[in-house]
Amino acid sequence: MSAPAAPYRGRFAPSPTGPLHFGSLVAAVASYLRARSQHGSWLVRMEDIDPPRQQPGAADSILRALESFALEWDEPVLFQSTRLEAYREHVQSLLERGMAFPCSCSRSDIKRFIGASVPGETAVYPGICRDRPRRPDAACAIRLRTADVEIGFDDLLQGPFRQELQQAVGDFVLQRKGGLPAYQLAVVVDDAHQRITEICRGTDLLDNTPRQIFLQQCLDLPMPGYLHFPLVLAPAGDKLSKRTGALAVDETSAGALMSEALGFLGLPPDAALRGAPPDQQLRWAIEHWCPSLLRDQPSRPWPAAGVLAAAQ
Ligand code: GLU
Repeated sequence: MSAPAAPYRGRFAPSPTGPLHFGSLVAAVASYLRARSQHGSWLVRMEDIDPPRQQPGAADSILRALESFALEWDEPVLFQSTRLEAYREHVQSLLERGMAFPCSCSRSDIKRFIGASVPGETAVYPGICRDRPRRPDAACAIRLRTADVEIGFDDLLQGPFRQELQQAVGDFVLQRKGGLPAYQLAVVVDDAHQRITEICRGTDLLDNTPRQIFLQQCLDLPMPGYLHFPLVLAPAGDKLSKRTGALAVDETSAGALMSEALGFLGLPPDAALRGAPPDQQLRWAIEHWCPSLLRDQPSRPWPAAGVLAAAQ
């Protein structure tokens, strides 16, 4: 007899770089509906490990906004800034096993090494420090030694996705110069720590997933399921974000905005429910939403995204 499947545990993991906007509201609603429709838990994790990009007060404002949209989380919010010791321990264990190495290269060192013949920016690290013995110190980043392997997984919505890790990204950063963890490390360590069974997030992170799976393998951590949903785009075609001018959601229009978020996710409420308090709309959506409503839906702009945003 096979072991019963673990109860579903999903999460929403915002970075507090600004207030909740329509794109991040859609991300929260999608992961919430997925978890609740699986009778699972929904956790919130604040990815606050990049001080220069963070905005004071943003974490609180995101949490308040989630509450005003009736997106209630289970268990206390996990702040990544409280987990630095755990990240360091994992980096240390990879260093001790020769699976990671210190790297003192600056961006310009890497560019110079690659040579002017390569047009534009390249994300692929050319392995400069890979085999140079040196002791890690604060002036070094720590990179993971990637293998010449293809990492693949089946995304619940996007289907099979494969990546030749070494060619596509090379040895990637786990710990930045100065000692703060990189996103790739923190996300993998915490998804395991919080026993997340499925990661439901936007397609902008689809091509990060093979890096995260490889890291799970190196750290002997379980691999969750993956579901990457389409993104709300800004009118110019980039992901809607603070950088592309997204404004804070207007919590006084929470009912109307919830209807728009559900519309984007393929489940527009009918006239009787449109604009109703968010908890009522969510109760109905949990019964009716499924990811396949988004099958064949590309990332796209959504007209109401800018209209219902609060002036800042
Ligand atoms: N913190 C990331 C973001 O706000 C999301 C990370 C994830 O879902 O893996 O884009």
